Amino acid sequence: MDRIVIIGGSIMGSSIAYHLGLAGAADRVLVVEPDPTYEWAAAPRSAGGVRLMHGLPENIEMSRYGREVYRNFAALMDVDGEPGTFPFLEYGYLYLVVGHEAVAEAQASLKVQREAGVPNELLDRDELERRFDGVRFDDVDAGLFGPQDGFIDPYAAVQGFRRKAQSFGVEYLTDRVVDLETVDDRVNRVVTEAHGAIEADVVVNVAGAWAPAICAMVGMSIPVEPLSRPTFYFELREPIAPLPLTKDPSGVAFRTEGAGFAAGLTRPGAARGFQWDVGEAEHALFDSELWPVLAHRVPAFEALKVQRSWAGHYAYNRLDGNTIIGPWVGGLSNFYIATGFSGAGLQKGPAIGRAMAELLLEGGYQTIDLTRLSYQRVIDNAPLVEVGFKA
Ligand SMILES: Cc1cc2nc3c(=O)[nH]c(=O)nc-3n(C[C@H](O)[C@H](O)[C@H](O)COP(=O)(O)OP(=O)(O)OC[C@H]3O[C@@H](n4cnc5c(N)ncnc54)[C@H](O)[C@@H]3O)c2cc1C
Repeated sequence: MDRIVIIGGSIMGSSIAYHLGLAGAADRVLVVEPDPTYEWAAAPRSAGGVRLMHGLPENIEMSRYGREVYRNFAALMDVDGEPGTFPFLEYGYLYLVVGHEAVAEAQASLKVQREAGVPNELLDRDELERRFDGVRFDDVDAGLFGPQDGFIDPYAAVQGFRRKAQSFGVEYLTDRVVDLETVDDRVNRVVTEAHGAIEADVVVNVAGAWAPAICAMVGMSIPVEPLSRPTFYFELREPIAPLPLTKDPSGVAFRTEGAGFAAGLTRPGAARGFQWDVGEAEHALFDSELWPVLAHRVPAFEALKVQRSWAGHYAYNRLDGNTIIGPWVGGLSNFYIATGFSGAGLQKGPAIGRAMAELLLEGGYQTIDLTRLSYQRVIDNAPLVEVGFKA
């Protein structure tokens, strides 16, 4: 019986394990994950957003399946007949744009969304003011609104998939992969720090921002690198009603989080590599670049107080910011990857899990065709860029 070894057991690894288990293949699956608390993984450090606001049909379809799974998550992941709760907070996404070019891009992405049956709307300034109290729109031209978009608890999502996969019989090994051994055009052994070498018939690399290091063990080069993303959680003296995740034209994004709000900033020029500290430099950046934008956009934010901050890492695909999934085209025949999710992997987790299970068990995609997201485009140096909202 062929053994599938999954490297990394966070949202991707556990969703793949769950979908393989659902298809009756649990006894073939071993997940190697060093940290069952997922302290450093991107998933629990993420914003937990699930949106249909994408500019590529594949990404819309992946998030649509993600939304469906997460909306029914408690029942789907139940293991003991007592499903817990797993809220899907449908506060929406609001992508604000200014200038002809940005409005045209938002229109182009709306067209892709509408063609996929997503009920998003492009709202003008008057309509934005009518719908969203307490937010200032005098300096924007339009806002793309996704009413079906929302948020989940990402840590609960990882643990939910993991528990359910284990209930199917998937084995998790608490260990770290340190090397891969090959024979001819195949990986035949996965070497772990504490348990030594493990025989493998198929290897799936879903180690997030560490995936490039795993690829390097077999000489595979991917244009993916860790990109540190600081997040600041703040509260207000006078709480205000929840707001959609709002992406400002400056790149600053904020969303309701518990009793307060979480805010972050996407900076295209940010340095690559692991950077865990959110120290003086990041707090100075908050004061000089985030706070002015936040206080302008939502006047109630003027009195905000930052309570905590943390950093997580995107697995950032510098070719086009998009997912790479599938076998190593032109390389080892049994080595698969799924990485490059930037800030949108949590919502794609369910679909990536299903897609990888289809590839491994059926030899091809059965539901969403992700062929365009394969490693072939890296070989061809042919970026597949999304229009509109980018995480
Ligand atoms: C600040 C921030 C905000 C985000 N917001 C969103 C959002 O709103 N919506 C959304 O959809 N996505 C969001 N994301 C992106 C999302 O978190 C990631 O795309 C997703 O978590 C990727 O999942 P993963 O399983 O590939 O990687 P990870 O969650 O990073 O997991 C990788 C796993 O690999 C393991 N590993 C590492 N090295 C080894 C090894 N040598 N051997 C074995 N295992 C190993 C790690 O321990 C870890 O558990 C955000 C990310 C960040 C950083």
